[in-house]
Formats: sequence, structure tokens, C-alpha cells
Amino acid sequence: MTDLELLIDLHKDGHRQGPGGDEQTRLAIELSGLKDQPNLEIADIGCGTGASTMLLAQELDAHITAVDLCPEFLKILDDAIAREDLSDRIATRAESMDALSIRGVTLDAIWSEGAIYNMGFENGVRSWREFLKPGGILAISELTWLTGERPEEVEAYWNAQYPEVDTASAKMAILENAGYAPIGYFPLPKQCWIYNYYRPTQTRFEAFLDRHGEIETARALVAAEREEMAVYERWSDYFGYGFYIARRLAD
Ligand code: SAH
Repeated sequence: MTDLELLIDLHKDGHRQGPGGDEQTRLAIELSGLKDQPNLEIADIGCGTGASTMLLAQELDAHITAVDLCPEFLKILDDAIAREDLSDRIATRAESMDALSIRGVTLDAIWSEGAIYNMGFENGVRSWREFLKPGGILAISELTWLTGERPEEVEAYWNAQYPEVDTASAKMAILENAGYAPIGYFPLPKQCWIYNYYRPTQTRFEAFLDRHGEIETARALVAAEREEMAVYERWSDYFGYGFYIARRLAD
């Protein structure tokens, strides 16, 4: 099995594939101001198995294109769409966030929870802007330093994992310089990491290792995830996910 196949196998049974929460998706929807608007066209990029996609469909008058690189995650979302009879509201597309097949300025909103890091925050917000109508909403969650300074150990860990990690004020400046007006920000509370993501992932480690424990990269994956969890337990006062909501300005 490839590293990617192992990662999918470990995470496909989770409600979410990254830190987040239904309550926080709802809060971002409130802050976005999209609720009063009819007939929205939205893309949920890096949607995973679609926790946020389903909420967007429930809360908004919208058609949603749910994009993820991983067909196995989209298959789970497709099953949920069929179960809930939402096929006229949600369409899934297996493609990469840096080569979207969206053509033209068609979107009222781009949603992306815990995924833009795959192409980098600045690169992502700059390249997705061309699909958003002026006044359209960008709502993304992203790894964020919560304080101006932090212990060297946690700084070194995340700089190695994701060098674009930065403070909310720096991320807002990136948005401002890329032609957006930030309209909302909140940090995800700790339960979004611990109860919604790490604990459920942990409960799957044993069965995962029963299936794949003979593969060295599978053991390394579990070790890396355990290390990340330990870093979070120890240093969560200093980093978390920030949810950024911004409005695309006219050119
Ligand atoms: N938004 C979901 C998933 C977050 S995990 C949630 O919050 O639960 C990150 C997701 O990004 C995964 O589903 C992964 O398959 C997807 N991904 C990784 N690289 C990608 C790429 N280049 N293009 C599109 N999706 C990608």
C-alpha cells in the first residue's frame, strides 16, 4: 500500500479528517452572511467525507461542488448524498485543489476546512480568487499561531511540518494583500482537535495496525500521528486552527 492509501484507510471512517466541528462550521456560516442569499453556488474544497458539505447543504440555499483529491472519501460522501436525497444540491468531483476544473467567475463562496495547507495558504487564496464573484465569500480554516511568541520546541516542530504556519494577524494581512476584506475570524476550540479528531483517530489505531502493522510506513504513520497529538496536548495554548472568513473585493 502507498502512503496515501494508508492515510485514507486510517481516516476514511472519521466524521472529519481534520480538526473542526459542526458547531464551528455553523458559526462560520453565520459570520459569512450567506444565510439570507438565494441560489448560491459554492465549492467545498478538500471536503474529505463531507462533514462541512452536508452542513452547507442543510443551512443554505445552495448548490455545492464538493472537491477532494481522494475518490474513497468522496464515495462516502456520495453515499450520504444518496441517503439524504441531496443529489440535486451536491455534486462531488475528484480533482486537485491546484488544478480545479471550475471555469469562469461562478462562485458565491469557497469553503475549505483543514485542507488549504496542501497547496499553501497564500498560494491557495490567491489562485482561488479568480473563481469567486466580487463580494463572494472565502471561508477557510488554517493552522495558526495563537500568540506572538512561543516556545522554541513547538516552533521548530511546526516550522518543519508546515513552514507557512503564522499568526492570525499575518494570515489576515495575506488576505488583505490578495484582494480580500477579512470579515470574521475565530480560533477553533480545543474540543475540535481532541474530541472531534484526535480521540476518534486514536480509537482506530489498533485495528489499523492489525491490518497493516507489518508495513513499516504504516507504523511510521501511527507514530507521526501520535507525536502530533502529544505536541497538541503539550502546546495547545500556542497553536490551533483559525477559521478565516473574508469577502472578495472587486478588481
Ligand atoms: N475538510 C475535511 C477534510 C480535511 S483533511 C474536514 O474538515 O474533515 C484534508 C483533505 O484534503 C483530505 O480529504 C485530502 O484528501 C484532501 N486533499 C489533500 N490534497 C489535496 C489536493 N491536492 N486537492 C484536493 N484535495 C486534497
